[in-house]
Amino acid sequence: MYNPFTLENKTIVITGASSGIGRQCAIDCSKMGARVILVARNIERLNETLTMMDGKEHLCVSFDLTQIENIPSMVDNIVKQVGRIHGVLHCAGISHVQLLQLMKSDTMESFFKTNVIGAMILTKEICRKKNIDSQGASIVFFSSIMSVVGDAGKSLYGMTKGALVSGAKSLACEYASKKIRINCISPGAIETPINFHQPYMSDPIQRADFEKKHLLGFGVPTDISNACIYLLSDASRWLTGQNIIIDGGYTTR
Ligand code: NAD
Repeated sequence: MYNPFTLENKTIVITGASSGIGRQCAIDCSKMGARVILVARNIERLNETLTMMDGKEHLCVSFDLTQIENIPSMVDNIVKQVGRIHGVLHCAGISHVQLLQLMKSDTMESFFKTNVIGAMILTKEICRKKNIDSQGASIVFFSSIMSVVGDAGKSLYGMTKGALVSGAKSLACEYASKKIRINCISPGAIETPINFHQPYMSDPIQRADFEKKHLLGFGVPTDISNACIYLLSDASRWLTGQNIIIDGGYTTR
């Protein structure tokens, strides 16, 4: 059957695969035929994801992406075990809501380390000639609508996510000759552990107000994983340097 979105014969690394959107992406990529390398800190939760997936050749890697100096050896180990890589969904990320007046500089550093520097070093290591498939690869950064709009308390999170969008454009230029495409996905609100305890999700009044801003209501993880399948597949071979906003209409008004 004609299927331009197939991921058969592709090896895909998914960070943040222990939870939320990354977990759903791992499940759905496996259903599309991919071999998935699941990366996050908690091995039990990664193994839990594994039980929800199709196929048997997947690999779980327990790793803290703030251990920047160990990223090269982590990537080497993956390639030694499974061969060259065709794609990356870099879902791992952290979020919070805090006004600038209350924010400390070490919080700023830790957000940039996890959300931005981790993404850059992971891309640098995976995109080496010896690690990437000879036909090229597709790298997807997880940004957010906070990269293109603002909200009180979201300055730090928004800055890290905006950095991914602008970084992806220049990286797309750097890597195009190697047939490596680099894009971002910017979700609106999807109910996952990252925002369970945020006031805009846990307080019923704030939640209703926030949901109303999404013309189609809150999203679910498959709204995002479906777009990831497109970005990883050969169907998107002519797309690079873009930021795909999937937000139920939040940024339309
Ligand atoms: P989540 O909290 O359910 O998942 C985040 C994942 O990142 C977890 O698996 C966690 O273990 C992993 N992670 C965090 N820090 C890590 C580290 N140092 N090393 C390794 N793994 C680490 O959240 P989610 O909603 O699935 O978020 C996935 C991505 O989507 C994030 O980058 C987030 O910023 C982005 N996003 C989410 C929403 C939303 O509403 N859920 C909206 C916009 C953007």
